[in-house]
Amino acid sequence: MFSVRQLYDLQLLDWDIQSHEQDLAETNSKLADDSARVAAKKRLDGLEARLGELGPARRTAEAAVQQTEQKLAAIDNRVYSGMITSARELAAIEDEKTALQQQHSDQEDELLTLMVDTDETQDNKDKAQTSFDSINSRRQAELTELQSSHKTLTDELPGLYERREDVVDDYPPVALATYSMIAKQRGGQAVALVERDTCQGCRIALARTELQAVRDPEKIVQCGSCSRILVLA
Ligand SMILES: [Zn+2]
Repeated sequence: MFSVRQLYDLQLLDWDIQSHEQDLAETNSKLADDSARVAAKKRLDGLEARLGELGPARRTAEAAVQQTEQKLAAIDNRVYSGMITSARELAAIEDEKTALQQQHSDQEDELLTLMVDTDETQDNKDKAQTSFDSINSRRQAELTELQSSHKTLTDELPGLYERREDVVDDYPPVALATYSMIAKQRGGQAVALVERDTCQGCRIALARTELQAVRDPEKIVQCGSCSRILVLA
């Protein structure tokens, strides 16, 4: 003999299935979402590439400074050698020296900028490495946990589906169709318990006739307000 209460048992089972399915969907989306780790790696790679560019640029700038210093030293040697006797030649050398000194100063500024940039980039790279390491190890631990949940959920779900098939096997088709229709309309809850003369689905007090009808365990009675199938608590 079919009792309406069996629809409540079915609802508990369906809720269990729904919760498994939701957990599995969440687990799958978390497993697929590697965005934090990818972003941290991208930042680290970018800083490493920048350091890779700064190294040669700094060496080039250092060489340029040295070259200018050598030229300046050569000029000084010529001036102090006493070989230059013409005032015009001396003036030309002084002009050349002034121009080289300006160039030397500009080159030193450029080198200093590159050194500061290198220090800052190195500092940022070290921080990015620490951040990546921490995100990476957290993600590894999370993945282990997620894979374990995924396994548990996928192991349990087939058993639940099978149980549902067994459970509904001897339910009258009309009861089952009514249940499915209301479940679809009412956010997955087709059955509501009656407590203190109130439908627990919509929290609205039931009419005397509804309360009397609900006492018949074989009769499907729907709440006048939310249309859920009523079952005495
Ligand atoms: Zn109701």
